[in-house]
This record gives sequence, C-alpha cells and structure tokens, in this order.
Amino acid sequence: MAQQTQISRVADFYSAWLEHFPSFKVLASASRADVLRQWSGLGYNNRAVRLHQLAKDVTGRRHRALPQTIDELLALPGIGKYTAHAVACFAFGQSVPVVDINIRRVLSRLKWKIHSASEMKPEKKIWSVAAAFLPPNNAYDWNQALMDIGSQLCTARNPKCAECPLRHDCASAFSSKFNAKHRAVKKTEPHHNGTPRRLIRGKILKILHTGPKRFNDLLPLLNGNHAASPPKMGEPLAEKQKFLHDVLALMENDGIIEMHGSGTSARISLPESS
Ligand code: SF4
Repeated sequence: MAQQTQISRVADFYSAWLEHFPSFKVLASASRADVLRQWSGLGYNNRAVRLHQLAKDVTGRRHRALPQTIDELLALPGIGKYTAHAVACFAFGQSVPVVDINIRRVLSRLKWKIHSASEMKPEKKIWSVAAAFLPPNNAYDWNQALMDIGSQLCTARNPKCAECPLRHDCASAFSSKFNAKHRAVKKTEPHHNGTPRRLIRGKILKILHTGPKRFNDLLPLLNGNHAASPPKMGEPLAEKQKFLHDVLALMENDGIIEMHGSGTSARISLPESS
C-alpha cells in the first residue's frame, strides 16, 4: 500500500483492509471485485490485483504461509528486490540489507562526495555498499534508522547535516551545493485532453463499483473537467472511442476489469470470479 502512496494516507486503509481480509486465506477466496472495492480510493489498483494473486499463491503452497527466503519471496507476484529484502529483514528478522529510495540517497552521500541534490549512485552499487555497512547483529534497527535518516534528515534538497548522527563519517556532510536548483525531468503521462489516464482509470473503476456498464455508458467519462485543459470541442467520436478502448484493454490486461462482447456495445464489469 505504501508504494507510491504516503503512509499518512495508507494508515486508515490498512486497518480497514486487515479487518476485511484478516488472513491470506480470506483474501485468496475473495472475489477480485471485492478486493478492488476495498482498495478503492488508494489508487494504483494493480497493487491490489498483485496482492490478491499473491494471497492465492501463498495459500496454494504446501505450508500455506509466506515463504521466508529471499529467492522464494522474489518468485511471488508483485514482490521485487526491495520488498523481498524488507520482508526478510522486518518480518523474519534476517540480517539482510534493504535499499529504498531514501536509503539509496543516504548511502550515496555517506560514501561519495555528492555534488547536487539529484545525484545518486546506481542502485546496484548501493546494494553492495548496504551489504558492506550492515552491522552483524542489528540489521533491523540499522535499516529502520537509515530509512528514518533518509526521510527526516538527509532529505533531497535541504539535508539537516548538523542533526545527523552520520555527519562525522559522511563524505557529503555540509555540502554547500545541495541547495543548488535542479530541474526535475518531467515525465509525460498518457492523457486525454489533459486528464491523466490514471485518473480516467480511477473514474471507470468508481462507476463500475455500482455495477456493470456498457462501453457507451463510459464514454462521457472522457468529457473531463480538467481545469488545465478543457474538453476539445468537436473531438471526433472515433478518437474518443479509441482512447477509451485502449484504456479498457489495459485495465483488462491488468486483471482489473472484465469485458464481454466487443465494440461499443461491450459490457464491462469488475471481475467477479475469485
Ligand atoms: S551528514 Fe548530511 S549529507 Fe551526510 S547523511 Fe547526514 S544528512 Fe545526509
């Protein structure tokens, strides 16, 4: 839940989720539609789909429990290197490094003299530094502390070096250049008349929570209310239909919706099967 979403926003969803799905078994036997309903409002719905799939994989295993080795964790859907290491360390107490974006920034600055706010060493390099720095008996506290330093002190722009416990060993401490302006490269997200595709996906899901809809019922969702870019007057219907069709095809591919039939009379619903 916390991937790409702030913890403060996750907190309420997390408790409600655990109340609704208290175990992998309950989650695995829920319908995809129920899973998406409970996730509604958190965004990035692919995460819900992967978590649902993960619960099914786990309950299909011999011991019906989350595996503990990093290799086995990595084989589960939606689990990458960071998550596998974080689960191994924080849930199972293993002595393994963890590298998230904050730790990557802290370790980059700690080991190398960094000259700008954006400069970070490649992830692969940081994993080996993280492994080399790992204290033999206290990986849990060490990894948590690095995360906290990264989020509270060693921030991207204005690191608080004077308060940082690493300042005496840090190659970049008190670097005067951290505050230099750096222009972030703006990623362009697919959009329809200024409304990001991600928001259109959210609107489609919201309307499908009320029941299945026809393709044509969803078309008005593209009329948009994005202040930055008002609806294009006279946009050819075929263009709108193609955009909606492409969005729906992606959502179907992600396992978030089901489409029955084709063309403008297609019936679209949340996946009801478990
Ligand atoms: S001393 Fe400054 S640059 Fe170094 S880790 Fe601490 S906050 Fe970051």
